[in-house]
Amino acid sequence: MTERVGTEPSVFTRILRGEIPSEIVLQTDDVFVIRDIAPQAPIHLLVIPKTDEHPDVVSLAAHDPRLLAHMVEVANVAAAQAGATDFRLIFNTGAGAGQTVFHVHAHVLASQAVPLGERTMAGGMPAGEGA
Ligand code: AMP
Repeated sequence: MTERVGTEPSVFTRILRGEIPSEIVLQTDDVFVIRDIAPQAPIHLLVIPKTDEHPDVVSLAAHDPRLLAHMVEVANVAAAQAGATDFRLIFNTGAGAGQTVFHVHAHVLASQAVPLGERTMAGGMPAGEGA
């Protein structure tokens, strides 16, 4: 399903309003985070501005770079909350690139959840963290 910005609220706005069920796993005054309904990785979160005025990341960067930076900050916190220290941050931009919801959002993808505090026990000391 593809959505276009128009008079109808986006699926993400409807989730924020509680009209469509989804668990908000993290939120700030300006941004909220949900799990993707069709995960492409063991950890697949969506970081979404509460405002729906920006259809994609190009529009967001041009008009509100502070909010874009905040999305990145929240993505990092959400990934850590899910147990990932390393993650991919993806903004599909345009229908030809796979964007289906034209309410800007970042995909946070990570391959595995490693319980906080167990990373060095399972995999040895991460590079750069040794004595
Ligand atoms: P994109 O294709 O980059 O626009 O990403 C839109 C994402 O929203 C897709 O990965 C969908 O699986 C996800 N999505 C659509 N509806 C829901 C929903 N109700 N709850 C959670 N994720 C959703």
